[in-house]
Order: sequence, then C-alpha cells, then structure tokens
Amino acid sequence: MRHVQSPLLTTLYQRTEGGFDATQITREPERREREASLTIESSLFLAGTDAGLSDGMIMELAGIFGGVIDFALDPRVGDTIHVIYEELMLDGRRFGDGPILATSFTNRGETFEAYRYTDLEGDTSYYNESGVSMRKAFLRAPLDFTRVSSNFNPNRLHPIYKTERPHRGTDYAAPRGTPVYAAGDGRVIEAGYTRPNGNYIFIQHGEQFVTHYLHLHRLKVKKGSKVKQGQVIGTVGSTGAATGPHLHYEFLVNGVHRNPRTVHKILPKARSLPEAEIPRYLASIRQPTQQLAGLRNAQHLAQAE
Ligand SMILES: [Zn+2]
Repeated sequence: MRHVQSPLLTTLYQRTEGGFDATQITREPERREREASLTIESSLFLAGTDAGLSDGMIMELAGIFGGVIDFALDPRVGDTIHVIYEELMLDGRRFGDGPILATSFTNRGETFEAYRYTDLEGDTSYYNESGVSMRKAFLRAPLDFTRVSSNFNPNRLHPIYKTERPHRGTDYAAPRGTPVYAAGDGRVIEAGYTRPNGNYIFIQHGEQFVTHYLHLHRLKVKKGSKVKQGQVIGTVGSTGAATGPHLHYEFLVNGVHRNPRTVHKILPKARSLPEAEIPRYLASIRQPTQQLAGLRNAQHLAQAE
C-alpha cells in the first residue's frame, strides 16, 4: 500500500512474513533560478501578477522594501522592479516559490537593492549593496498597503486638513477594517477613545520615539501590551473627528511631532554586517549585482526602442 501524504512524502507499506514493513520516500523539489522585471502602471500587485509572480512573492517583495519604501504613498507609474528568485519544480512542473535571491526597486529614479545573505552565524536576511540590513526599526507604511484604495490617485497626497488642525501626521485613506500595523517594536502606552482622536493607540519605541494611530475602527491591543513590528494593533476606521475612513499616523521624536514621510532620514541607522564579514558578503553578491544591472539595462534598451 502506498500512502501519499504530500507530493514530497509517501509511505510505502509492504507485506512481510510477520506483518508489514513501512518505508518513507521523501522527494526534494528541484530549484530553478528565475528572473522577472516589472513596471508599475497602476499597482505593485497588478505589475507583479502580470510578470508571473505569486501573491506570496509580491508580499515578500513588499516586506523586503517595507523599511525604505512606503508602498501606500511612494510608488509612481513607471517605477521598475527586478527580481531574481527561485522556483521549486517537481516532475518538470512548478511546485512552489523558493526565496527571492536579489531584487532592485527603482522609485522615482532612486534605486534600492536588496540581497539575500546567510551570515557566518547562519542567520539569513536581506541587506543592501553595502551590507546594511534592509530591516529597519520602523515600517514606512504602518498598514496593509494592498487595501489602500487611493493608490496612484494624485489627490491622495493632500492630507485631510479640514478635519484636523494643525495637521501633524500622514493620512492613509483606506477602507474600514484595513489592518493597521505597529510601525516598530515597542509598548502600547495609550489605547482608548477621545472625541478628536476617536479610537486611538500610542506606542513607545525605546526612549526617544512614539507613534500615534488615530480614528481606528477597532483596537486589537491594550495599554501596556508589548508589540512587535508588523503586528496588527487595530483596524482603519473613521471614529472621532474624521470625515471618512483613514489612518492618521504621527511620529514623535523626543516628544516633538516630525513628518512621518521624512523622519526616517534622522532615525538611527539600521544594523550593518560586521566589518570582518563585508568582503565575504560583497563576494557573494557580485554575480547577482551584475544580473540586476543587466536586467535594468535590458529594460532601458527596450524602452528606448
Ligand atoms: Zn490626519
């Protein structure tokens, strides 16, 4: 009897004199390297789908660049993304996604690169071309950007000054119920309701930084809770002084409001690989760096034609 538990695992039972023998047969999918180039015309999701990327891989891309690009507000028509990734094959057919090995994102002329690297301790993460971690202390967009309805609507750049004055944050118009994330690791110092803020959450991150999330529909954390970056802390709503569902997000440094869109420029630098490991890292990314440059060149040529 053959019990097929999954495409990768089968148990074979064979009759013997005294009963049955069980043998496990495991299979390994083949890894095939693939490349994809996408140009944003309406949204990252559509561009990714058109290029044959799975939803999971598009989310992974967004995760890799989540510390440097605000996927709700930054992408522009004409932005380009190049990806080198692995596809898992079984019996000559696509079986699943492997990891993204290297990728570059050109946003309004500025190019960000990220490379997958396993360090000498065995930890795998993404780093830029000089070995600085792509994982930043704060997410650029503290909500599920795929639900931000105003993507590519030029009007979205105008904050809702009418309802909140003075306006000291960024507004993300999104449907009620859109998940809101903790921008960074921290502790909830306030979670409650006031007439201007509606349902709101304040999070303290280390000594210096506090983030505010206003007009929430539901709160998913309590005062005093510890939160991790990317954890869902509530959902978008229009409670308090808000004309429509949106997240009002504020960033405070030492008690002073800063523009969340530009504050990352003054935040502490992300972790770098140890100096001693840089030569090994640079050697490991030499080939993918050339591959990404080749993809960008091919696209420029195609556009010139
Ligand atoms: Zn606002």
